[in-house]
Amino acid sequence: MKTYERIADLRAALAPARREGKSIGFVPTMGALHAGHLSLLSRARDKNDIVVMSLFVNPTQFNDPSDFKNYPRDAERDKELAAGAGCDVVFAPSREEIYPEGFDTVVTVRGLSDILEGASRPGHFAGVSTVVAKLLNIVQPARAYFGEKDYQQLQLIRRLTADLDIPAEIVACPTVREPDGLAMSSRNVRLSVEEHKAAAVLNRALSQAQNMADAGIREARVLAGAIGRMILAEPLVDLDYAVIVDRETLREVDRIDGSPIALVAASFGGVRLIDNRVLVPTSPRPRG
Ligand code: AMP
Repeated sequence: MKTYERIADLRAALAPARREGKSIGFVPTMGALHAGHLSLLSRARDKNDIVVMSLFVNPTQFNDPSDFKNYPRDAERDKELAAGAGCDVVFAPSREEIYPEGFDTVVTVRGLSDILEGASRPGHFAGVSTVVAKLLNIVQPARAYFGEKDYQQLQLIRRLTADLDIPAEIVACPTVREPDGLAMSSRNVRLSVEEHKAAAVLNRALSQAQNMADAGIREARVLAGAIGRMILAEPLVDLDYAVIVDRETLREVDRIDGSPIALVAASFGGVRLIDNRVLVPTSPRPRG
């Protein structure tokens, strides 16, 4: 596995493969790799001739400076894990390489950027869409892999690539979870044992909503209320939102007939976590 820090070097390294018509699969990350990232790498490995992973803690997407400062970083460990998952090339640029002096462009996906995570983290999605647009231009992959855990981000990137005619297929990968159901996140290492235990409520609350849907409940308000109450019953939690929204527009729905998605965001000991689950309106189970 090779590592490049300069855009020009990465482009030069990928040029021969591109000329030979080989496919490039790309996995953008901020490092602190866990099994979720590795699942994206192995999906990319299965389908592409060359797998490229970026390792860049993007400063512009952190609305909270202390979150940026405390974000876990361990490039050497990340490179070992990436190599083990079949990655061929790591792109690990400096801040100056991505945002050189005079850099003055912001890519904004309107609408999707201002709600939910965007409302709670002003500027976050402008940072995400700008860096992802840049990375997709730098790597020019046939396919780029993103996790469903960050569902709003995934939708934003789908919109961005369609609107800007970026010729990469966006591949969505299912959420990888800890044994207790907590969605894996680089931020999980900042949770205490108690906070980790408490945070597992997010997945349980989402499962409970599906159980209620299985029992025939269709009103989104009732289901979202039940999710919120279950999360709030945890002593260590600060709930931001629990909503049921359309999977495309992320606007709230009244009923779950069209398989919308439940999205939750909550902090545990100041560590902000998100999770989601598509709610399927199955027929009520026969009683007795
Ligand atoms: P990050 O390093 O947090 O920016 O994440 C890089 C990529 O990994 C994004 O596409 C995330 O959605 C994805 N990802 C993060 N956590 C998980 C997870 N638990 N399961 C699957 N994908 C994930």
